[in-house]
Amino acid sequence: MTVSAACGGVLTDPPADCPLCPRLVEFRRDNRAAFPDFFNAPVPSFGTADARLLIVGMAPGLKGANRTGRPFTGDFAGDLLYATLIRHGFARGTYDRRSDDGLALTDCRITNAVRCVPPQNKPVGAEVNACRPFLTATMAEMPALQVILVLGSLAHGATLAALGLKKSAHKFGHGAKAVLPDGRALISSYHCSRYNTNTGVLTEDMFDSVFQEIRRTLNR
Ligand code: SF4
Repeated sequence: MTVSAACGGVLTDPPADCPLCPRLVEFRRDNRAAFPDFFNAPVPSFGTADARLLIVGMAPGLKGANRTGRPFTGDFAGDLLYATLIRHGFARGTYDRRSDDGLALTDCRITNAVRCVPPQNKPVGAEVNACRPFLTATMAEMPALQVILVLGSLAHGATLAALGLKKSAHKFGHGAKAVLPDGRALISSYHCSRYNTNTGVLTEDMFDSVFQEIRRTLNR
């Protein structure tokens, strides 16, 4: 289990038995009984705090990050995300759907707006709000952070709220880029879920374009 760092008195990664969301705590308890070999705890961020790029997803998948304990690791969304990160120089090594596959991130960090797996993959607003301090603390401990990539509209809203900004000030849209008041860039993408790729909402080319824009932004 990762030891959580604290930023401004708030943990950047929640404790394994975080009690703040009753519905998710009950789901965690059920999953520990049903899948004793799974991670079954709030999933910590992956990557170091000195990264310039932070990727914010929605929440762990039951048999993905909730199984392996590493964001986006173990399900289809991770297959696409990590292949894309390797292609664009933000990860090195071989991705193998395991947290001990040796893959390392380069100048990149990955986290989720909601750290516990929700039933039916759908967190409710109160859970997003309860987990917000961990996202705020995660961003606050990244001194070199220049680009935040949000995957999906829930992560977009949660990230703006975590930064104390109004959602209405920066509309979500695939490929949308906003310059935040502190000069950092917020770039949006459709979530790299199997559903979105199967339905053609997100293609590999569309996802690649987002990372090309991230690279251009970091190189400026
Ligand atoms: S989702 Fe976040 S706030 Fe809620 S129980 Fe899990 S770690 Fe705690």
